[in-house]
Amino acid sequence: MICSICPRKCNVDRQESNGFCGVGNNLKISRAALHFYEEPCISGKSGSGTVFFSGCNLRCVYCQNKTIAEGYGKEITIDRLVEIFFELKEKGANNINLVTPDHFAPKIIYVLKKAKEKGLNLPIVYNTSGYCDENIIKLLDGLVDIYLTDFKYFNCETAERYSSAYDYPQVAKKALKSMVNLVGKPTFLKNGIMKRGVIVRHLCLPNCANETKNILDYLYSEYKDDIIISIMNQFTPISLEKYPELNRKITEEEYQNIVDYANLIGINNAYIQEGDTAKESFIPSFFELEGV
Ligand code: SF4
Repeated sequence: MICSICPRKCNVDRQESNGFCGVGNNLKISRAALHFYEEPCISGKSGSGTVFFSGCNLRCVYCQNKTIAEGYGKEITIDRLVEIFFELKEKGANNINLVTPDHFAPKIIYVLKKAKEKGLNLPIVYNTSGYCDENIIKLLDGLVDIYLTDFKYFNCETAERYSSAYDYPQVAKKALKSMVNLVGKPTFLKNGIMKRGVIVRHLCLPNCANETKNILDYLYSEYKDDIIISIMNQFTPISLEKYPELNRKITEEEYQNIVDYANLIGINNAYIQEGDTAKESFIPSFFELEGV
């Protein structure tokens, strides 16, 4: 089948060759384990049941998970993935968290239907870069409970420079609208764990404060408190010769300015990060293929 699952529309046969996302047709994952570093309403005390999919359709130049974005992992069957969901549930996961799933979306729809038929009753989290086709999102109706989606760029030029995706802002806006339409306002269990809703993550990049402010303006004017905004300061520089402007962390002062701005425009429904979160220890090791 010729692949046009995501906005890249590579039109390649993924049985024969890989498109931009770097992986073939078969499901491929690099880790399935409890994860404790998502937002508190996702991880809680017992952890989020994360499944990291190999490959990525965005491939940002500053990616912290390059190993898996480039396709590292193991191919698994649909039945094995269903089994993995139940293993994560058995370990106490608060939810099943599908990390970078977009390039496998049609297969994931099938897996989720199968898992639900077998009695899986945990909230399903779709954890995406935001570069996804709004029509694919609509197909997830009734299968996904929580969207944990990035909103990375407001300017097309920035999106092109760092992710080769000039259309990212338009695509992410449409996808977000579909997500909010499907799952509505955030709701929570009594213990504070999220049951349903949308969290929009924005990672502050060095020298992009105006872009961040434009994104916060847009998100708040469009959605007010119908979404939760997660403003992240954990950008970790990796030595990038072609992008010298990215070779540093966000300073405390820069981050505080952004947080003050969010307060100023009226954003209440938000997560902010405290202390030095830009550490590699938050990035799990994928080489062991844990839980796969
Ligand atoms: S899912 Fe992969 S192959 Fe398909 S259109 Fe997107 S990047 Fe290209």
